[in-house]
Amino acid sequence: MMNTTQARILLVEDEPNIAEGIIFNLEAEGYRSTHCLSAEEARAKLDAEEFDLLVLDIMLPGIDGLEFCRRLRKKGSELPVLMLTARGDEEDRIAGLSEGADDYLTKPFSLREFLLRVKALLRRSRGTTRVRGTNYSFGHNQIDLAERRATTPAGPIELTELEVKMLQLFFSREGKVISRGDLLQSVWGVAPDTETRTLDNFIVRLRKYFEVDPGQPVYFQTVRGRGYRFVSKDSKKGPQSNAE
Ligand code: CA
Repeated sequence: MMNTTQARILLVEDEPNIAEGIIFNLEAEGYRSTHCLSAEEARAKLDAEEFDLLVLDIMLPGIDGLEFCRRLRKKGSELPVLMLTARGDEEDRIAGLSEGADDYLTKPFSLREFLLRVKALLRRSRGTTRVRGTNYSFGHNQIDLAERRATTPAGPIELTELEVKMLQLFFSREGKVISRGDLLQSVWGVAPDTETRTLDNFIVRLRKYFEVDPGQPVYFQTVRGRGYRFVSKDSKKGPQSNAE
């Protein structure tokens, strides 16, 4: 049942041969992969898109993998991190894990083992989202939080873990204003004064998915100076049959 094949993986690796082998294998397994050569480049990617797993080489030009991982965790990111270390460098391995990496592989590694680690990390992280009362519908949208899928007027979409978290919060407090601080705290676990652009991007994305006219939102409303509110008079909670 577990569908990990559409997981998005961000690879940060400056050695072209290694990167090439990894990407080839990830794509052969059906994962979507994005490759960066440096931590700086990866930072920009993470700000712009969402990923399910970060594969992070330690030895990078500029900010190294350890420092990058430390910064990521400091910002409250729970993105699973698989760190790639140089052969036999025990210091690096220990440092990697203490900076918040979830697992590590020592170079040179077999691509088969690499794929197994990737799969295990994705499985572990997906298991952390617990979703109850998983079906919601409003307007022409049907959302299955447990399966992380939605049917929208524009067609079917897959939801990311963070999108599911945010939707859960909105649904559980339907009709009530949720402050930006609460959203940031509940979804990202970060202090309200950080990451505000990320939150705005998320709201824009939810509107694009679910609103008939994203510029005139009906369901995901902005409450000026206070936060956001999910409203849906016709929403239904609870299990629904798939039969048409
Ligand atoms: Ca390297």
